[in-house]
Amino acid sequence: MALTRIGLAGLAVMGQNLALNIAEKGFPISVYNRTTSKVDETVQRAKLEGNLPLYGFHDPASFVNSIQKPRVVIMLVKAGAPVDQTIATLAAHLEQGDCIVDGGNEWYENTERREKAMEERGLLYLGMGVSGGEEGSLEAYQYIEDILLKVSAQVPDSGPCVTYIGKGGSGNFVKMVHNGIEYGDMQLIAEAYDVLKSVGKLTNGELQQVFAEWNKGELLSFLVEITADIFSIKDDQGEGYLVDKVLDKTGMKGTGKWTVQQAAELSVAAPTIEASLDSRFLSGLKDERVAASKIFQGDYSSGETVDKAQLIEDVRKALYASKICSYAQGMNIIKAKSTEKGWGLNLGELARIWKGGCIIRASFLDRIKKAYDRNGELANLLIDPEFAQEIMDRQAAWRRVVCLAINNGVSTPGMSASLAYFDSYRRDRLPANLVQAQRDYFGAHTYERVDMPGSFHTEWYKIA
Ligand code: NAP
Repeated sequence: MALTRIGLAGLAVMGQNLALNIAEKGFPISVYNRTTSKVDETVQRAKLEGNLPLYGFHDPASFVNSIQKPRVVIMLVKAGAPVDQTIATLAAHLEQGDCIVDGGNEWYENTERREKAMEERGLLYLGMGVSGGEEGSLEAYQYIEDILLKVSAQVPDSGPCVTYIGKGGSGNFVKMVHNGIEYGDMQLIAEAYDVLKSVGKLTNGELQQVFAEWNKGELLSFLVEITADIFSIKDDQGEGYLVDKVLDKTGMKGTGKWTVQQAAELSVAAPTIEASLDSRFLSGLKDERVAASKIFQGDYSSGETVDKAQLIEDVRKALYASKICSYAQGMNIIKAKSTEKGWGLNLGELARIWKGGCIIRASFLDRIKKAYDRNGELANLLIDPEFAQEIMDRQAAWRRVVCLAINNGVSTPGMSASLAYFDSYRRDRLPANLVQAQRDYFGAHTYERVDMPGSFHTEWYKIA
């Protein structure tokens, strides 16, 4: 067998599919997995899918030796300790100048630590967030750029959805925030569904049509498209629709939580993304919620008459406006981190590579790219002239939806958080004056005044 172009270790869902994708694009690939049955399974799939140039190995030494030098091995294993263990297994057989690429959703500081450790051993290391982009050493990126350009999603007029993002852990960080934004998108869509179903009384058939229709306009996106599909699927184990049989408990792997933690570390407000994470936590309390529903029984319906057509239109607008706020928050987290670390990230380029292939792909991302092209230093997406106008045009509908949901006891944490974010951001004066006065009252934290410069302290309790 001739030497292969690249190796891939870790053959679960992601690894198997990426390996087959690379082989299908004509790059001969060697594959390895700790549990060898997955190697055989992948080889079998490659055979069935057209005798693809994919070669399986059961031991790490022959796997590494089957790859042409300088060797590149992509890892797709569980983040954390499994990545360290896999690096140790592979590095024992790699030689100076060889390169390891981590394609998993890894905590960006782990990538920075590993990049340093590998450098000391003469190896290159690249953290590659699959769904969006690349990071790590530019030299390492160039080793596999030809492959990545071919295996990534292609968007007409925008090019392949792959780029060298920046140094250090920037690619993993960007992928992490991408996932946080994904949490926000999914939550907002779920709330739109809840309002339409619980207040508007739409059937699954009607919901399918509404989401399919929305997917033809400004909300066109992968998540809206699959949502429409979900409403059409009948239960294959019983009566009715499958979506109604799915337990209302959302799982998670951690990237949403990391995004929220990072937002807090960076002092960036991200209430929509936080609300989506909190909603997942609350969804997990199924037994408690069932018990609480018995304590707080009652008719929560406001009795308002709802014009279905008007409601559908209002919810569409509320979803879009809320989504703008959510993306504004995600972009601001990335911008703040980039400034802190000196990564110099290009936010418009990130929006471009998210346009195809990844879970948050949406036509809307083109608008974001253009907003950053117009002004790379934009403080917040909300104030881009086009987005500002869109929000203005939708805010009446947005407020109607949130009020209607509140009046009917339906929670819309993401839409409400987005609206509160907008209402806080657009106001020139907030009640923060009172909070600061309280801080000065009990803790002598001082305050500034609106009418003169300087720092002031008042002995409030003596005067009161
Ligand atoms: P996964 O469930 O996260 O991980 C399973 C893989 O990790 C298997 O190959 C497993 O090998 C290996 N592994 C676990 N512990 C190991 C250890 N101690 N030593 C060596 N190998 C070990 O798989 P996945 O869902 O395909 O995801 C892979 C990576 O891509 C993750 O970082 C994930 O977050 C990221 N990702 C996943 C998705 C997705 O939709 N699934 C999307 C984007 C990114 P064995 O077979 O031997 O157990």
